[in-house]
Amino acid sequence: MDKALLQQLPKMDVLLTCPALVEAQSELPYHALKEAARAQLDGLRRGILDGSITALPETAVLAQAAITQARAACRPHLRRVINATGVVLHTNMGRAPLGEEAAKAVYEAARGYSNLEYNLDEGRRGSRFSHVDKLICSLTGAEGALAVNNNAAAVFLMLSALAAGKKVAISRGELVEIGGSFRVPEIMARSGAHLIEVGTTNKTHLSDYRRAIEEQGAEILLKVHTSNFKLIGFTEEVSTEDLVALGKEYSVPVFHDLGSGALFTDQVLGVPDGPTVEDSVKAGADVVCFSGDKLLGGPQAGIAIGKKEYIEAMKKNQFARVVRIDKLTLAALEATLRFYEDHALAARRIPTLSMLGATREELRLRAEAFAAALTEKLGARCTVTTAPDTGEVGGGSLPGVPLPTWVVELAPVNCSLDALEKALRAWETPIVGRIRHEKYVLDPRTLTHEDGEEIVRALDAILK
Ligand SMILES: *Cc1c(COP(=O)(O)O)cnc(C)c1O
Repeated sequence: MDKALLQQLPKMDVLLTCPALVEAQSELPYHALKEAARAQLDGLRRGILDGSITALPETAVLAQAAITQARAACRPHLRRVINATGVVLHTNMGRAPLGEEAAKAVYEAARGYSNLEYNLDEGRRGSRFSHVDKLICSLTGAEGALAVNNNAAAVFLMLSALAAGKKVAISRGELVEIGGSFRVPEIMARSGAHLIEVGTTNKTHLSDYRRAIEEQGAEILLKVHTSNFKLIGFTEEVSTEDLVALGKEYSVPVFHDLGSGALFTDQVLGVPDGPTVEDSVKAGADVVCFSGDKLLGGPQAGIAIGKKEYIEAMKKNQFARVVRIDKLTLAALEATLRFYEDHALAARRIPTLSMLGATREELRLRAEAFAAALTEKLGARCTVTTAPDTGEVGGGSLPGVPLPTWVVELAPVNCSLDALEKALRAWETPIVGRIRHEKYVLDPRTLTHEDGEEIVRALDAILK
């Protein structure tokens, strides 16, 4: 132990008044800097006491270390993550990433005032609903539209405003849990609707609905898209068209919770016959609800469209205020929807659509270019190969629909796969891939060019 060295250790208040740390106070909270400075000094003191430190760093160097430590401590908890899983609508990683225009629209709406509820033509109070409802109507052909906080809210508002106290028939095969304890039977009970179960788990016929109307007095027919699971084998469900025809016969409205609705049938290249809003509206459903951040590729939002009288009743319901959409979401939603005026443009400019639309051949070329860059940088430190693979859409969307892809596989030489996975996850911008068949797998589908460069940098540092 070096007593003289201990005495040379700068005092806290001296360290804190050194220029770099004073300047850092304009950017970081004082308590965080003080905490970090104390930790640096404690570390040095311990090192001197156990003999591992025999010379002190310059005070400026010490100050810089404290600033770096304080900055790390003040880093936001919600952070950007590089998604190398290839799962486009990854529920745990924020579902649909926004496109550049939508992100810019959020930024603009966030940093100043806006005409959120101000009518610029007339110079008086306007409506929050006015920004997207006409656009959604013109895109979908519906009479009325309403955007709320998320689709769970849209469904609950629909049931509360239109089905409270009424008997609602739904197939036993559609009494699903959507996730996070959002279960159709419980949501119906909460909304005040009375559930009439129809058919069986695997098979429901039109005659089952007819009986529910004639014998049990059903006043509404509800169809819920079983977004997050697939029933295969001996199954039958009634199409929206047939339900609507039956509803017309008895003057009973048909509501449809579509969940992950793509707007158009031709929208998602490479993903065959998923459920679409277009189909549901064409079939004649009276109200259709769907998510903004699933296949639509926008922000978290719920959209309800349908007959004007129903949508108006939903807007007037007191619960509408509880689930109302905020200005940032509205900005992102409008910017995303604008692209849908041209389907080809939407397919290119909405990230969810362009990622889902990437073909295996395109992904093979990207995987090979990525693998070449990795091999060049990592050399003998890691074996890099590519291989065909099958991915998934994610976000409880289109289960069982295989997404043909081409992946990059890593087999590091001096590092276990678990250690590699952990180190990538701990990287400055965390990188999340997956381990499979003794390889660390990266899917280029969900990676931008910049993400790829960051991964090369990370692997180069981690496998040093
Ligand atoms: C995802 C989903 C919901 C919930 O939508 P959120 O936007 O997550 O609130 C409701 N119904 C169905 C059928 C869904 O797939």
